[in-house]
Amino acid sequence: MKDKKKLVLVGAGHAHIQLLRHLEKTKPLWTPHWSVFLVNSMDHSIYSGALPGVLAGLLPPSQMQIPLEPLCQKAQVHFLKTQVQSLLLEKNSLQLYQGNQIHFDQLSLNVGSLNSPLPHDETVPVISLKPIGDLLSKWQKLLDILEQWEHSRPPHVALIGGGATGAEIAMALAAALTTQQKLQKKRLAKAWNEQPLAASSVAPVITLWQREDLLPNLNPRARKKLIQALHRWQIQIQTYSHVTGVFKGQIHYEIQPRLPSNNILSFETSKKSPAGPGDSRTQPVDFVLLATPAAPNPLIKNSSLPLIPPGFIGVEPTLQVSQYPHIWAAGDCVAFPAVPFESPFYDSTSYANANLYGTKVNSRTSKSEVPFLPKSGVYAVRQGALLSHNLCQLLSNNPNTLGTITFKNYVPQTRTLALIATADHRAIGAWGPFAMDGTWLWRWKQYLDQSFVQP
Ligand SMILES: Cc1cc2nc3c(=O)[nH]c(=O)nc-3n(C[C@H](O)[C@H](O)[C@H](O)COP(=O)(O)OP(=O)(O)OC[C@H]3O[C@@H](n4cnc5c(N)ncnc54)[C@H](O)[C@@H]3O)c2cc1C
Repeated sequence: MKDKKKLVLVGAGHAHIQLLRHLEKTKPLWTPHWSVFLVNSMDHSIYSGALPGVLAGLLPPSQMQIPLEPLCQKAQVHFLKTQVQSLLLEKNSLQLYQGNQIHFDQLSLNVGSLNSPLPHDETVPVISLKPIGDLLSKWQKLLDILEQWEHSRPPHVALIGGGATGAEIAMALAAALTTQQKLQKKRLAKAWNEQPLAASSVAPVITLWQREDLLPNLNPRARKKLIQALHRWQIQIQTYSHVTGVFKGQIHYEIQPRLPSNNILSFETSKKSPAGPGDSRTQPVDFVLLATPAAPNPLIKNSSLPLIPPGFIGVEPTLQVSQYPHIWAAGDCVAFPAVPFESPFYDSTSYANANLYGTKVNSRTSKSEVPFLPKSGVYAVRQGALLSHNLCQLLSNNPNTLGTITFKNYVPQTRTLALIATADHRAIGAWGPFAMDGTWLWRWKQYLDQSFVQP
């Protein structure tokens, strides 16, 4: 019997979870010709949508964890629980952490991203929210330390990054720290109207830091609801403040210029005298959580793949890596244009011009601010469906006729439904210019999340 060809999947991100499920359904078609391997550093995958609910203590961890061994067994995929250290592209091999190498004929990458780092010394713990795989244990340690806080003054926790994740996690932290769970439940209904939820006098002061306005891409109604929710949790909001580092127990930041149109919705609890743009200031802090913009996974950044600054993979619409048709990539590790590839603004032949491309879009299309899709689980999931189709198409065909297969293109949805959990069994929804909130949205979000985790 001839040797089978090898497809190796690196990273059990959202896209590969879907692929594994698809491989299970199509296994009679591909198992005669292909062996498939999954290499992942942990024995389960985390579904990011359910993560804030788990961190808030509203959901058990099982509602966000997808165990990989049973999934792989069902799909007849070989599971290797280890980390890939480097991509040896010239040899079509991967260097694994334990020292051995694994060859591939086709490779698919879904390894996620990290948070942009912040310069800091060792005086204050600085915890990155990504990678999300080990966040729960870091979170538990933080809660333990905060619970055992012995000083008479409250601890100051800073969340750097006021996007949807930063806001959700700030509320999740406030919720997790609310100790009297039963009492809290009774107060929730009232609290939605006007009462603040945080109780203890030494309850930590949580501040959400953002360089510009909070969630600039959210519609104004939804943003207002979100700010109200943060207010109910007594979370301080420090907008137009560019944090430059954390040294000697102080956050160092610079005041940023304000856009007049955004003033209506932003409010700051800081009572310091008004400062002008460029002013440098400091503020004491005890713990820092990083919800900063996505930074590339070192595995990708240190590879010779075609990269778009600061280090995300340039792909074709089929999700094949540019110049490497036997390598596929999806999710946060990819830079995917936010406008259709056939757009006259997009020059698909030159990834070196990626930044130029962004500028072109900005200067000629008023609506588009970001040249590439935001790093979000929503896009990773959608790309997973397309990746599953294309790879299963490839695997199900005779390996000798691979050149004749036509793959589908990924076309990003122009509008996504944002569902932001407010850590009180409620969620805020934003769809285009529309905004809503309520317990029904939280229940619906849970239903959607669970349909992914336990389909
Ligand atoms: C706290 C938090 C909350 C979020 N909430 C939401 C939300 O509600 N909705 C939403 O859409 N997005 C949310 N996001 C964003 C979301 O987490 C990411 O966009 C999403 O996880 C990206 O998925 P992915 O498929 O690219 O990879 P990931 O889900 O990050 O998975 C990558 C996998 O690759 C593995 N891996 C990485 N490197 C290696 C290696 N070298 N070798 C082997 N394995 C490796 C990791 O162990 C991991 O299993 C949130 C992010 C955070 C931090």
